[in-house]
Amino acid sequence: MLVAGNWKMHTNREEAIQLAQAVVAEVGDPGPVQVAVCPPFVNLEVVRQIVEHTPIHLGAQHMHEEVAGAYTGEVSAPMLKAVGCRYVILGHSERRQYFGETDAAVNRKIKRALQYGLIPIVCVGETLEERQAGKAATVVERQVSAALDGVALPSAEALVIAYEPVWAIGTGHTATPAQAQEMHALIRHLLVKQYGEEVGRALHILYGGSVKPSNAADLFAQPDVDGGLIGGASLKAADFAAIVQAAC
Ligand code: PGA
Repeated sequence: MLVAGNWKMHTNREEAIQLAQAVVAEVGDPGPVQVAVCPPFVNLEVVRQIVEHTPIHLGAQHMHEEVAGAYTGEVSAPMLKAVGCRYVILGHSERRQYFGETDAAVNRKIKRALQYGLIPIVCVGETLEERQAGKAATVVERQVSAALDGVALPSAEALVIAYEPVWAIGTGHTATPAQAQEMHALIRHLLVKQYGEEVGRALHILYGGSVKPSNAADLFAQPDVDGGLIGGASLKAADFAAIVQAAC
């Protein structure tokens, strides 16, 4: 199980310090569950100082595919690695929707992240219109296949997929455990097809979209749900810790 908090564009420096300290205290020893927080770029360093030597790992929310160069405002894989990141979220629906991130760009970013030993958390998921039109599975299949095109994995720990239906993100409308499991099973099938039984079965597939302490346990009980990517609820340390607890 892996539970990752996506703080999005929340927390100034002082708030990030307080939230990171509270997460360390509230989560305590998560046992076999892997836990990560993904603060905004400018707070990575200060959060790293708090979480290093604790069971909490550090992740970033986004990354440019090039290593360095004239890309004003962007941050690269080696920069994230140097500041202590273990994970990087790639292809979040907000990046796709507001910043024009394409499947092809997500694919290039994944390859770059892997090259630098970062674990990409690759987000996929359909919009409400796509689900209502009966195209959810087709969309997710396209996103997964395009993201992983030509991607070799050194191990099952090297990459994580997050299924995040866009209609469930920040809306309070969580997918039912059955809806999540149905899509996770499809993603699992694609992963097994590409990487074989052993790696395909062992890869983590997270669910994201309005995960809360009240629904986390039911979602995590599904056979192909291996944890969660948590937005809103990761900004309250007690809620985030309760979700981690539900994964234990
Ligand atoms: P949410 O966000 O938990 O606030 O719905 C999830 C995400 O966007 O990763």
